[in-house]
Amino acid sequence: MARPEDALVTEITPQSEDFSRWYLDVVRRAELADYTPVKGCMAIRPYGYAIWELIQQDLDRRFKATGHVNAYFPLFIPESLIMREAEHVEGFAPQVAWVTKGGAEELEEKLVVRPTSEAIFGTMYSRWIQSWRDLPLLINQWANVVRWEKVTRPFLRTTEFLWQEGHTAHETEAEAQEETLRMLGVYKAFAEEVLAMPVLDGQKSESEKSAGAARTYSIEALMGDGRALQAGTSHFLGQNFAKAFEIRFQGRDKTLQYAWTTSWGVSTRLIGGLIMTHGDDSGLILPPRVAPYQVVIVPIQRGNWQETVLPHAQQVRDALRAAGIRVFLDAREEYTPGWKFAEWEMRGVPVRLEIGPKDIEKGQVVLARRDTRAKMSASRDGVADHVAALLDEVQRALLERARAFRDEHTARVERWDEFVSLMEGRPGFVIARWCGDAECEATIKTETQATIRNLPFEQVPGGTCVRCDRPAITDARFAKAY
Ligand SMILES: [Zn+2]
Repeated sequence: MARPEDALVTEITPQSEDFSRWYLDVVRRAELADYTPVKGCMAIRPYGYAIWELIQQDLDRRFKATGHVNAYFPLFIPESLIMREAEHVEGFAPQVAWVTKGGAEELEEKLVVRPTSEAIFGTMYSRWIQSWRDLPLLINQWANVVRWEKVTRPFLRTTEFLWQEGHTAHETEAEAQEETLRMLGVYKAFAEEVLAMPVLDGQKSESEKSAGAARTYSIEALMGDGRALQAGTSHFLGQNFAKAFEIRFQGRDKTLQYAWTTSWGVSTRLIGGLIMTHGDDSGLILPPRVAPYQVVIVPIQRGNWQETVLPHAQQVRDALRAAGIRVFLDAREEYTPGWKFAEWEMRGVPVRLEIGPKDIEKGQVVLARRDTRAKMSASRDGVADHVAALLDEVQRALLERARAFRDEHTARVERWDEFVSLMEGRPGFVIARWCGDAECEATIKTETQATIRNLPFEQVPGGTCVRCDRPAITDARFAKAY
């Protein structure tokens, strides 16, 4: 008869066999999310939602520290409003869900279920902003949005997803541009410090920018299969939306002026990024800062362990909890310690703490790291300090490992044949010179599936384009992407 721990291990497809299958197995087995009878829509399960809550809390703190406040806007947007900004509506139209009836009655005006909220924020901002004294207006909302997707994958692309969208209005172009880059910086710091996911920040090419934006900036991460993931975007909208929605104010010089606006967002897609940045063949690996349980305590079940071992395990749990560590004591009698080890390993808990009769005699506990699988003993005295230091070490090591992987999978090429063979072989980021032409970019995509993920902030002209040999205007970072 197969032991339960064997069953666990064989249920996850190895990454090397089929990365995409591995991803879906981890999402399902770690109980992060599940499919529902609603096409393209997932149920985020409590363990997955706990990760999202940790992401939210940390980001929310960063938004507030940079002067933003939260508010809530409607789920529905009238057709006439979404039509106001031409590029915007053209960009989102193919993905919009429509509400045409309320009860039995046809609506006089159709409503869209928000795919994003520039139109409704713009409409309200035009009422709330009258004078330069009303600026800047810095509002964020945590919400769900709907984009009708043909092909979906849990967290990475779903018809309904959760996100935050910041919408700000400013007096000057320079202030709006500064805000756009400030928030991109917040995203980059968050991705690296909290998700341990290194990212490349830069500007999107014209053809990859968001519909209606003047300039789009992104952070781009590299997943374990060598494909890139756009993990967050920040848009400088210029006066496009201010003109479409009449966001005007009386300036310091008494003239009537259009505001300068920005928008920026990250979504539950970050959880997909987390899974694919750190996971291995045994399942999920969570950085401590977003782990619902940073430590799981497994008491060794020998003899009358509930009288001898369990009280010690409870004391250790209480000490960790008092130190602010998220800890779970797995005292379930019906599972063996071996099963529990495999289960929590698969669910990515950063540190496992074992305690048995021998450890109690020696006044110690055993700690096992999920990332390196290293095991060590630590003294019971000051156990919370030992664990806290180990969690910091795991957090740091995960970022370092992901950065080393990203760097190993980043190459600079000059010749087109090198570019093609790299994209066919072991993909990753390829940095090459580019002419700036959208048609050339489209040709590269058709021939290799690689897209420009973003352009470095500093664009230095010189040399020739990797594809067409015309004069190059900048470096570009190419990759196959999710
Ligand atoms: Zn070119």
